[in-house]
Amino acid sequence: MTQPPSSKSKKICLMGASGVGKTSLVKRFVEGKFDDTYRTTIGVHIDSKSVTCDEEQVKLIIWDLEGKDDLGSEYPATYLGGAQGYMLVADVTRPDTLDIAKSLLSTIMRHRREERDPPFVLMLNKNDILQSPTVTNRAIELFGDDTKLFGTSAKTGERVNEAFEHLVRQMLDA
Ligand code: GDP
Ligand code: MG
Repeated sequence: MTQPPSSKSKKICLMGASGVGKTSLVKRFVEGKFDDTYRTTIGVHIDSKSVTCDEEQVKLIIWDLEGKDDLGSEYPATYLGGAQGYMLVADVTRPDTLDIAKSLLSTIMRHRREERDPPFVLMLNKNDILQSPTVTNRAIELFGDDTKLFGTSAKTGERVNEAFEHLVRQMLDA
């Protein structure tokens, strides 16, 4: 007998400085589109997409959070609460956005409820404009070798699905 598909739902938060491409990455992932116009996200934008991972159906609830540009600035606890996975996004053309992503990772670690680290991936976005080994090395230096790093482009779609899939798999294994 075949099992009915389980309908798990998982909350993911996208975090990073403003303008790094968070909203564009969600749009690429959910709608398969890219749009050049820049509209600042105020507060949070919530989107969802169902994916199948290892024959299991998962509904992803994707919270695209407003950019944080000051080191140490905080999100309201309700934004991060209940998230099972995180995407930290930096812009390869603006290496300082890596420092912001790193400080947001500290926020995530402070909010975690469990002993082990929550699943997260780091996206070094706008890879279509620049591929920089220097910036990639800086990311590894800041985040450590174990961090899963993806050079993505919301514009071309490069590695976007792969990054989401990796995160989902990590969340399902958690
Ligand atoms: P957010 O503030 O992090 O949500 O950033 P947005 O998604 O609004 O993107 C900011 C700007 O960068 C917009 O003008 C986007 O069109 C542009 N952008 C986002 N991702 C990419 C990318 O991968 N490549 C290029 N070339 N531009 C991008
Ligand atoms: Mg946005």
